[in-house]
Amino acid sequence: MPRHDVVIIGAGPGGYVAAIRAAQLGFDVACIEREEALGGTCVRVGCIPSKALLVSSERFREAREDLGEHGIGVGGLELDLGAMMVRKDRVVKANSDGVTFLLKKNGVTCYQGSAEIVAPGRVVIRDSETTVEAEHTVIATGSRVAPLSGIEPDGDRIVTSSEALAFSEVPEHLAVIGAGYIGLELGLVWHRLGARVTVLEYLERILPGMDAEIAGEALKAFRKQGLEFHLGARITGASTSGNRVSVEVEGADKITCDRLLLAVGRLPNTDGLGLGRLGVAVGERGQIEVDERFRTSVPGIYAIGDVVRGPMLAHKAEEEGVALAEWLKTGVGRVNYAAIPGIVYTEPEIAAVGQTEEQLKEEGVPYRKGSFPFSANGRARTEGVVEGKVKILAHAETDRILGVHIIGAGASDLIAEAVVAIEFGASAEDIARSVHAHPTLAEAVKEAALAVDGRSLHL
Ligand code: NAD
Repeated sequence: MPRHDVVIIGAGPGGYVAAIRAAQLGFDVACIEREEALGGTCVRVGCIPSKALLVSSERFREAREDLGEHGIGVGGLELDLGAMMVRKDRVVKANSDGVTFLLKKNGVTCYQGSAEIVAPGRVVIRDSETTVEAEHTVIATGSRVAPLSGIEPDGDRIVTSSEALAFSEVPEHLAVIGAGYIGLELGLVWHRLGARVTVLEYLERILPGMDAEIAGEALKAFRKQGLEFHLGARITGASTSGNRVSVEVEGADKITCDRLLLAVGRLPNTDGLGLGRLGVAVGERGQIEVDERFRTSVPGIYAIGDVVRGPMLAHKAEEEGVALAEWLKTGVGRVNYAAIPGIVYTEPEIAAVGQTEEQLKEEGVPYRKGSFPFSANGRARTEGVVEGKVKILAHAETDRILGVHIIGAGASDLIAEAVVAIEFGASAEDIARSVHAHPTLAEAVKEAALAVDGRSLHL
């Protein structure tokens, strides 16, 4: 029977990064993945393919709507959706192959099949009837699409994000349930490619959890682009007839579309792992309960990523994978949950780290706020991306940065500076006094930091 020091179930960002770090630290590591391609949801049917399509669809939109202003005429513009999908699949394969390469390079033994923990330290790989033993077992099985009562995805007309990344034609009218990360990113992809898109959101706002002022600006920007939103919409059911889908909204007219995307969140993947029999404690929302060292209630079994508490984000899972491997080797590991950025890769992009203004008010924390619009940033003007702003929230007495919220082009990269600032316990003054190259979008971050003290230079 093969024996390893650490066996990791799942080769997504949590699992494969944990495997690499554990191998670097000298452990004999095995990784079990049920899918043929490694990389998990993120690489196969999440972050990577969605970003590939976001880029392609934005290029198409730009050619159609913006290039004329630059004096560039594009005659006979055509969409070859097949070619766009081929490119996306190529990008996905390159990333997945990259994970395979990294695991091999680090000496990680990979097994394919569905794993079940039959006893602490003993894992059966169902499809191959192999049993492996290990001192430490790590569950990194990720998450799946959350269901919604009355909505039965059929993989064709009523779909989840996986199918919405691979439609063979542009929908005429795509309805999306949920104005979160997935609903907005994929809604925008298909809108840019020519679909009418209607987003149905249960709450009276979009992007719950994000700073309300920024989410309000995002809603305005998306509406201006032509996306339709029904807020406060309670969906009670959907039925398909031929190629039409009829969506029932409580207290409102039915919505008829040709494709319906369900994007109301995700649930931890814990089925079939044998957790009940082992007595691994699972919380109310299906998440595996862990302590700060990622130990479950059963000694020798650990869990990281989407299956445990916290945001379901690839980079959070990766950090937990690294911290767990370090805990196992050295007895020390750390994830700073106060500095985990969240990014929506729409246009404008939306990025945030730390606390929102609402959270600070609720907790009674005294704060000062500095904002700076991209419309006053030289580089943004040259690029024609003047929409949005940077907003910095700092403690009123200590000036320590508590939250940074950005809406605008490049927000996904600009937020890295804010993450480092929070990680280092920086003050707004620290950013304000750091030289930011001109002309760059990052100058808007510096100006927002200056604005915390009421001394923006370019406004
Ligand atoms: P989400 O939690 O981001 O958004 C779900 C949305 O659906 C929310 O706005 C919620 O209020 C709404 N909703 C819930 N129930 C509803 C109902 N009955 N009717 C209408 N609306 C309803 O979830 P998601 O967009 O499905 O994404 C799933 C996970 O994947 C998230 O945790 C997210 O972190 C992750 N993800 C991240 C990225 C990224 O980092 N850019 C991209 C895609 C997904």
